[in-house]
Amino acid sequence: MEQALLARYDRPLPRYTSYPTAPHFSAATGAKDYALWLAAIEPDARASLYLHVPFCRSMCWFCGCTTSAVHSVSALERYATALETEIGRVAAAIGHRLRAGQIHWGGGTPTALPAPLLRRVHAALARHFTLDDTTEIAIEIDPRTLPDDATALLRDLAVTRVSLGVQDFAPAVQAAIGRHQSVAQTKAAADAARAAGIASVNFDLVYGLPFQTIESLEATIGEVLALGPDRVALYGYAHVPWTRKRQQVIAERALPDTAARFAQQQRAAELLVAAGYRQIGLDHFARPEDMMARAAGTGALRRNFQGYTVDPSDLLIGLGASAISRLPQGYAQNAVGTQPYLAAIEAGGLAIAKGLALDNEDRLRGAIIERLMCDLEVDLATFDADPERFGAEGAALAPMEADGLLRREGSRVIVTEAGRPFLRHAAAAFDAWLGQAGRHAAAI
Ligand code: SF4
Repeated sequence: MEQALLARYDRPLPRYTSYPTAPHFSAATGAKDYALWLAAIEPDARASLYLHVPFCRSMCWFCGCTTSAVHSVSALERYATALETEIGRVAAAIGHRLRAGQIHWGGGTPTALPAPLLRRVHAALARHFTLDDTTEIAIEIDPRTLPDDATALLRDLAVTRVSLGVQDFAPAVQAAIGRHQSVAQTKAAADAARAAGIASVNFDLVYGLPFQTIESLEATIGEVLALGPDRVALYGYAHVPWTRKRQQVIAERALPDTAARFAQQQRAAELLVAAGYRQIGLDHFARPEDMMARAAGTGALRRNFQGYTVDPSDLLIGLGASAISRLPQGYAQNAVGTQPYLAAIEAGGLAIAKGLALDNEDRLRGAIIERLMCDLEVDLATFDADPERFGAEGAALAPMEADGLLRREGSRVIVTEAGRPFLRHAAAAFDAWLGQAGRHAAAI
């Protein structure tokens, strides 16, 4: 792709895992609002639950997650107890037993919690929510710290999908990001998951890392494909050292420039598609028979804080430090730091520190952005019959149209295949909050 075109689109933008995005949350929305929202949940609703474990065995310098290295057994025990307490307290605020359609253990590294603590928290979930054979349970695993009894543990937690962090296998890249992980460790984690009967094994790759090259990425993808993933997420490294101090260790001169990042992303996508994976949205790939691949393009794919999902629920309940809940009324985020989170739960309340109550304009724009990010197209007439309603947005999209990155067909906005890497730019045209808060990573 020509340099001039890349330069025109080289600007920081959100990833639109929510709308409005998290930097716009404020303390104007708090625990009282959240409690009212929980109490309004209908008895026959199905919820998704997200549990955040903000601990890792050691820190990877590139990581943008809310996590820290913690080894103290008493600290881990205290956190698990707080999670159990929060689960019970949220269930009490709902006031009836809610069915859980999806559970996602994220972090950090969920398995930084010792297996007995994970089993305890899972038991608390089962005590307060209805889990059944249709409940999908996903967990993020660091293959370097696979628990000894991983297969038994995954069975006990009823896990149906695992995500294994890989990033890049090249030694120079691993040294530069402070994460040493062998192919053998990664294979052992995938094998443990499959031995537990888990049908969906996903791998997370990252491009744009220090010293990463097209060749290192090609080699990594070759190793990953040999392990037969069901899905692959391919994220661009988000260099945000102003919010993630650990990234200051990464030498900026070692980072690929915009053109190199773009070339890496394109080559990785080409290899995955050639291997039979279907490209989904901005950065996911799935086998054609995978639920996510089947949902893509049907309007059933959703965008959430984990990226993409086939979970149809409009109720996401976040548990743990920094976890974000999304209910029809708005977003509510727990205290980001582990200590403030623990203090709030141990004081007897909910841990909400900030949030945002949605108005109808937010909902409408959020739905448009979600369809664009999921389907690469949206029919604006389904949101407002007035053709003048989105005149300003149409003008903002005109340069992308001129560059062949999208086209307009009546009221439909269609991002072309060439425009897929620029999905966030198309979404940004509908973002009425853009520029009011937050500093984002580069969008390419
Ligand atoms: S990449 Fe994973 S293991 Fe590394 S610091 Fe981040 S959450 Fe922890």
